[in-house]
Amino acid sequence: MIDLENISFDHCIKCTVCTIYCPVARVTHHFPGPKQCGPDTERLRIKNPELLDDSLRYCTNCKRCEIACPSNVKIADIIQSSKWKYFKKKFRIRDYFLSHTDLIGNTAVKYSGIMNFFTALSPVKFFLDQVLLIPSKRIFPKYARGTFRKWFKKFARKKQSAFGTHVVYFHGCFVNYNEHGLGKDLVSVMNAMNIGVTIPRERCCGVPLIANGYIEKARKNARFNINALRKTIEDPGTRIVTTSSSCAFALKYEYANLLEMDNSSIFNNLNYITRYIYDQFQAGNVPPMKPVTIRAAYHSPCHLERMGGVIYTIDVLRRVPGLDLQILHSECCGIAGTYGFKKEYYDVSQKVGSALFKRIEKARPDFVITDCETCKWQIEMSTPYKVLHPVSILARAFEK
Ligand code: SF4
Ligand code: SF4
Repeated sequence: MIDLENISFDHCIKCTVCTIYCPVARVTHHFPGPKQCGPDTERLRIKNPELLDDSLRYCTNCKRCEIACPSNVKIADIIQSSKWKYFKKKFRIRDYFLSHTDLIGNTAVKYSGIMNFFTALSPVKFFLDQVLLIPSKRIFPKYARGTFRKWFKKFARKKQSAFGTHVVYFHGCFVNYNEHGLGKDLVSVMNAMNIGVTIPRERCCGVPLIANGYIEKARKNARFNINALRKTIEDPGTRIVTTSSSCAFALKYEYANLLEMDNSSIFNNLNYITRYIYDQFQAGNVPPMKPVTIRAAYHSPCHLERMGGVIYTIDVLRRVPGLDLQILHSECCGIAGTYGFKKEYYDVSQKVGSALFKRIEKARPDFVITDCETCKWQIEMSTPYKVLHPVSILARAFEK
C-alpha cells in the first residue's frame, strides 16, 4: 500500500529553484539536487522502495531548498525521512559516537585534559582517519572541565532568585560540554536586563541523532525535552530560550515535522535568544551599553534563516555602540553538524563552505559573529578568524 503521509511533493511545480539554491548540488555531481532527490523520486520510492539511490546521503538537511521553494514542498524533510525509511541501517561506531553527545560529553568533561591532548595528536588523528573514517584534517572542538550545569548550580543559581522575571534556558550540548563561556555570558546578559535564569532538565535536542538515523532515540529525547520544558511554563508568559540556533530549530520544527511529535505545548513559548532580546529591547528594556569597538562579519546559519530569525540577530547587534558590522552574503558553511566530521563527505563539506570562507577573508574582520556552534567550528578551522556568539558581544557591551 502506498504511504501518503507526506504528499507535499505533489505541490512541486518543477520550477527547479530549489536546485539553484542547494549548496551541495552546486559542488558535487554525486548529488543531482533537491528536486530530483525529493519530490521527483519520492513518488517512485513510495511505490517501490528499491528505487532508492545513494545520492540522497549527500543531502546535509540545511533546508535552503525549503526556503527557496515557492510551493512550500518539504523537500529536505522528504529526503531525510526517505533515508530512515528506505536505507538499511548499518551500525557504525563513528556515527554512534558523533550522535550520542550526552553520553560522550558526560565522559569527556571528566577527562577533558587528556581528551583534548590526545585528539590533537597526529598518530591519534591518523588512527581516527583510517579506522573510524573521521578525517585527520578535521579539528575537534575542545571539551570543558566539568559541565555548565555544575557551574550554574554552584555559582549562579542562588543569585537568580533576586529577579522578578525569569527565562528558562535550554543550554544544549555545546554549552554544557564545550563552551561554558557562552552560558555564562547568557546569564550575565539576562541579569543585566534584570531577568533571572533557570535551567530545565534537558537532553540533547536530537539534531545529531536525526542526522545519523537514530530516530527512536531522537524521539525519546524529544519526548523528554517536551515534558521537561512544559513543566517550566505553567505560567503561560514564561519564555524558553536557546543560544543554539540548531537546538531552537529542532525543538520548534524538527520535532513536529520530522519526528512527528506533538510540541504544541511549548511551541509558542520557545525562541532562539535574539528574538527574545529583540522583544525586550522593543519593550524598552535596554540596559546601558558601552562601546564594543570591533569590526565584525556576521554569518547567518542555515537553520536560523529557515526559522526567519536572522533579522532579530542583526537588529540586536546593530544596537551595540561601536560595533562595525558587515553582513556576509548568505552562504552555507558546509559542516552541517556531523556531516563534515565524516571522511566520505569532508571534501564536499569544505567545497560548500569555500564561498563563505572567501567572503570572510575579503571582509578582513577582527572577528566573525554567528549563532550556531558548528558554523563556528567550521569557520575557525577553515579561516584564521575567531568566531563569537551575538550574546557574547552583548555581554561585552553590558559589562560594567
Ligand atoms: S537540505 Fe540542503 S543539501 Fe539537502 S537538498 Fe535541500 S538545499 Fe540541498
Ligand atoms: S522549488 Fe519547490 S516547486 Fe520548485 S522544483 Fe523545487 S520542490 Fe518543486
